[in-house]
Amino acid sequence: MRYISTRGETSPLSFQDAVITGLAPDGGLLLPEEIPDVRSRLGEWRELGFVDLALKILPLYIDDIPLEDLEPLVRSAYATFSHPEVVPLIPVGDINVVELFHGPTLAFKDVALQLLGQLFEYILSRRGEHLNILGATSGDTGSAAIYGVRGLPEIDIFVMFPDGRVSELQELQMTTVADANVHCLAVEGSFDDCQNLMKTLFADLPFKSTYRLGAVNSVNWARVLAQIVYYGYASLKLYAGAPVTFYVPTGNFGNVFAGYLAKRMGFPIERLVLATNENDILSAFFSTGVYQRGEVRFTVTPAMDIQVASNFERYLYYLLDEDSERLRRFMNDFSSTGRAVLDSPGRDEDFAAIAIGVEDTLSVIRRTYESHGYLLDPHTAVGLAAAEQIAAAGPKICLATAHPAKFPEAVNKAVGADVAHHAALELLRGLPTRRTVIPATLNAVRDFVANHARL
Ligand SMILES: *Cc1c(COP(=O)(O)O)cnc(C)c1O
Repeated sequence: MRYISTRGETSPLSFQDAVITGLAPDGGLLLPEEIPDVRSRLGEWRELGFVDLALKILPLYIDDIPLEDLEPLVRSAYATFSHPEVVPLIPVGDINVVELFHGPTLAFKDVALQLLGQLFEYILSRRGEHLNILGATSGDTGSAAIYGVRGLPEIDIFVMFPDGRVSELQELQMTTVADANVHCLAVEGSFDDCQNLMKTLFADLPFKSTYRLGAVNSVNWARVLAQIVYYGYASLKLYAGAPVTFYVPTGNFGNVFAGYLAKRMGFPIERLVLATNENDILSAFFSTGVYQRGEVRFTVTPAMDIQVASNFERYLYYLLDEDSERLRRFMNDFSSTGRAVLDSPGRDEDFAAIAIGVEDTLSVIRRTYESHGYLLDPHTAVGLAAAEQIAAAGPKICLATAHPAKFPEAVNKAVGADVAHHAALELLRGLPTRRTVIPATLNAVRDFVANHARL
């Protein structure tokens, strides 16, 4: 399988090159040259556990890592999950919740980042290369990325976060990791400062190549690929004649895009319902065909406080009939004016979309706890609210993207009692922490990376 860019100006890449490259050199996102059709295999796959199904799906997209090498990488990635089924399905009333949060940082990003870390290490060690990952986080992604690569010999990771502006738990999840290849930088500035510092360093090409800088951002193809597996797994578990509908709490469109690919592969999926918070640029697009940037609003679902969804371009490419020229025009309009319109708006039967406000989100948490004794995190609650409001002919599946104890303020407020706990998070409070405070200046970050990067 080779990988092509949505913008059509990059020669096709192997899987390994696609993983190491991340963003395509022409600025586009990488996609497989074709989407495998698995319909004839579904009967034999129905009984498989999550990891065994992953070992059927991933090789369809990875033809440059032999199965005997891939298998231990996949098994180690998911051995870090605390639930024997990895992603268990839990009935909550008439909705099935797939808990994607049993990984080490209690958020669904672990499903992808645990595997991405293993893939990076495999590829780098065979090439005799080292990589210094630089990232900026406002909270969640930083810890999931750190846990994906901690202790790996060929990788160092530098994570910048705004000092004093991430929650106590989020900071502890990063700074209590003792491995020497993990470097937490508390930047005296805002999250925007952190992101700008990162962008500026990546744009300095000599610095980037001297210090072998890399990224693990959400556009990496391997992250999307890893996420296809749980759509396949959950749809096969619940299929009994009628295809399933997924309700997906959405920010950067990475999660729901994996569902779109699973549907196109032939898994029994009726529809994907994209659930956003009040940052509703995506749900507005699906109802009007107009893609228009607004101001970011801060809500109780911070991982979804996003206006421009970095993975959306992948879906647009298919929506625009795989025509890179039309796609480039659309993206250029959007980046120059903050607004772009589909030239031939066609209804897409694969998707529905809805925006859920903060009040509804909190009320779903309270009602679900009262009626079913099941505690939702606010992101998952956005998905569940969508499932209550948008009908489906077959089984309803809501993806649970975080454990409620990661967002205790909103959850406890909704329920009116101190209920959001997890033993793994309580344990962090006693542990030693490591972090370096630096000013929000380019020189400070450069010096730190230059002094600590391994080459
Ligand atoms: C990242 C994240 C999301 C959004 O996922 P996307 O792939 O960006 O759409 C939703 N919920 C939680 C808890 C997350 O961490």
